[in-house]
Amino acid sequence: MVLIDTHVHLEDEAFASDRDEILQRAEETGIKTLINAGSAVEANRKILQLIRQAPNMYGSIGLHPHEFPNTSEPAFTDMREQLCQEKIVALGEIGLDYHVFPDYPPPDQKAQQKAFCKQLEMAKLFELPIIVHVREAYEDALHWLKQYGPYTNGGVMHCYAGGEEHLATVLDMGFYTGIGGPVTYPKAEAMREVVRIVPSDRLLLETDAPYLPPQFRRGKRNEPAYLKAVAEACAVLRNVSLETLAEQTSANARCLFKLEEKHPGTFVYDIQGYLYINLTNRCSADCTFCPRRIRRQVQQYELSLSREPLAEELIAGIGDPAKYREVVFCGFGEPILRLPTLLQVAKAVKSRGGRVRVDTNGHADIIFSRDILPECQGLVDEWSVSLNSADPEQYTRLVRPRSNTNVHAVVVEFISRAVKMGFPVTVTAVKLSEVNTQAVQKLAESLGARYRGRLHQRLGEPE
Ligand SMILES: [Zn+2]
Repeated sequence: MVLIDTHVHLEDEAFASDRDEILQRAEETGIKTLINAGSAVEANRKILQLIRQAPNMYGSIGLHPHEFPNTSEPAFTDMREQLCQEKIVALGEIGLDYHVFPDYPPPDQKAQQKAFCKQLEMAKLFELPIIVHVREAYEDALHWLKQYGPYTNGGVMHCYAGGEEHLATVLDMGFYTGIGGPVTYPKAEAMREVVRIVPSDRLLLETDAPYLPPQFRRGKRNEPAYLKAVAEACAVLRNVSLETLAEQTSANARCLFKLEEKHPGTFVYDIQGYLYINLTNRCSADCTFCPRRIRRQVQQYELSLSREPLAEELIAGIGDPAKYREVVFCGFGEPILRLPTLLQVAKAVKSRGGRVRVDTNGHADIIFSRDILPECQGLVDEWSVSLNSADPEQYTRLVRPRSNTNVHAVVVEFISRAVKMGFPVTVTAVKLSEVNTQAVQKLAESLGARYRGRLHQRLGEPE
């Protein structure tokens, strides 16, 4: 039996002295994979260390509503860097918490809402699933979630306590319900009713350790091994065997967080002497003409990733880069969303005599809120930037960037800066009838870049 704990806080001080034993005990109880949810600046930082050490642990990065109003702008900028790291599979936990604690000032609802919305925007830009924390604030939380939806990569209502009343809305948004220890509490009849009726493909298990232990450990520290008690309670409520419940919920977790442990899918493939690197299926844009909208296939290669490949797998998969004319980072998505991995692999390619090209939408400045070009020097030999239109308004209509900024201007600025820094840059446009490709060519050349028109839906073959 394999269980996945989709929400833990193992970076917490509560585990400082016996974290390894805790992980060992989890493993022995069948908890093979854990997702460590982010919550605060310091926690997010620790999570990145933890997931580097523990192979079966993945992370999510986010700022919990309790962190507001006392968390300031730089924390959001840091988040952008952290979200691009390996094994970060979600953004969260984020949300609203209006619970009033005695001896504490009342929650600042406005500050929480502002931070929640900001992070919802970020989740869309990075196309990551979200982990949502809501306490005594379902009306407002669902209002803002609807406002910023749809969420193409879904999410989970962690420790779902919205009852039957809000379940339809949650399911209609494509979200999962996360169920933990409270399902065993005597007073939690509403939560048990949710567990009875929720579709089997929308149920996730979690402990929220060190918080919310099941009834038999109440008042004490929770730990991932107690996920089994949660699973048993859910199996009884749903009238299925523990094995069936474990299988269903683990499959759900793998699906939402893209955790397929063994076979990520095709992540390196060669076409006519070029080696392509499929880093991610996520993108900060949603082009109307994007081939991935129709099918995730280039030539004979199916490019859907069931999880994102790690740097070491990529380096092994590339083999001898000098055999190819170029190693091209493209993804069937935006490779810059995985910048640290991209640069790590590019470094290995360069050190073995390979040549590196990066195909990008040029959104780096929006993704990171800073200039990434200096750190790419010496590692990226050429940029290929898809601009697709010389007209900002048409660009927005065709490319549909997941950001409200004037993205066209940002891309133009990225191209111009790259040229000035000495990078060879090719600007591309898909030849659509409504696009004035001559204007794109003129703009590219005025910036000092080369221009290449691309035939619509013609992928991986010379034009
Ligand atoms: Zn939590």
